[in-house]
Amino acid sequence: AKEAGRDTLSFFDPGMQAALVSRARLEKDLRQALTNDEWRLVYQPQVDIEDQLTGVEALLRWQHPERGMVSPGEFIPILESTRLINDVGMWVLETACKQLNEWQHQPDTAHLTVAVNISPIQFREDSFVPKVKAILRRTGAPANKLKLEVTETLFVESQENTQRKMEHLRAQGVRFSLDDFGTGYSSLAYLAKLPLDQLKIDQSFVFKVLDSPANAAIVESTIALAQSLGLSVIAEGVETRTHKNWLARHGCYAFQGYLFGRPMVVEEIEALLYTGVEA
Ligand code: C2E
Ligand code: CA
Ligand code: CA
Ligand code: CA
Repeated sequence: AKEAGRDTLSFFDPGMQAALVSRARLEKDLRQALTNDEWRLVYQPQVDIEDQLTGVEALLRWQHPERGMVSPGEFIPILESTRLINDVGMWVLETACKQLNEWQHQPDTAHLTVAVNISPIQFREDSFVPKVKAILRRTGAPANKLKLEVTETLFVESQENTQRKMEHLRAQGVRFSLDDFGTGYSSLAYLAKLPLDQLKIDQSFVFKVLDSPANAAIVESTIALAQSLGLSVIAEGVETRTHKNWLARHGCYAFQGYLFGRPMVVEEIEALLYTGVEA
């Protein structure tokens, strides 16, 4: 019955048919995006308690000739299911590391860290560690200014493998931030084992911190957990001064969100160092 249902849909539902066609076209365009030079990186500010820029998170954008700027929500799942994420992810890492290398040679920017999102698909590749090391060597980027943002899904399976890879990169100086903390795998046992440096409080918790006591409790315990494990903690999705103040009162002193700046191009990030963030 299930089979028949699917056939019925694909033959008779014009909406579904259109969706399949557009998905196929999207996939075809994505395969060409790298050679057509359509990938861009934007950088979102990360600040300390005094609103001083401490680093950025690199975020991927697709500059499509007809579609314009496409956001990651639309293409990351396709990049992952087609494994194109491996090549595109390496382009992201290389581009971010080139930027990191440029920044380390200017006194005003030498302190900046760059965070790069790593898909679990990408991390699980056998060649991941050697590729990262090769990029660090090629670009001259300082490993200790590079932060890899990984998610809890990595720890569900092959925990030993994950641990070994992380330790290998950590030995080079690379740091790890656990992204979207609290939204995924619920066991906390892995936290004690893995060489993490930072927990990143997911924006879904941050948004609701002022109106939901349950959310406030989750954020408070995340901060306490980070402290007791000796990890730093950063909150994402900080949109208002009130949110920032609440977080600071509860022991979180690193922030990212529209209050301090949207994802922006390099020149705008550099301008922030002179004008300060306008929060
Ligand atoms: P993420 O890693 O959780 O990134 C944070 C997302 O929240 C970004 O969306 C950012 O623009 C948005 N954001 C930041 N501050 C605020 C705020 O104050 N309010 C609100 N409403 N949103 C805020 P973006 O750039 O659309 O990226 C979406 C997701 O796509 C990312 O979520 C990440 O999972 C993925 N992604 C982006 N770039 C890459 C990449 O280079 N590689 C991989 N594997 N994934 C990426
Ligand atoms: Ca992230
Ligand atoms: Ca996140
Ligand atoms: Ca997220």
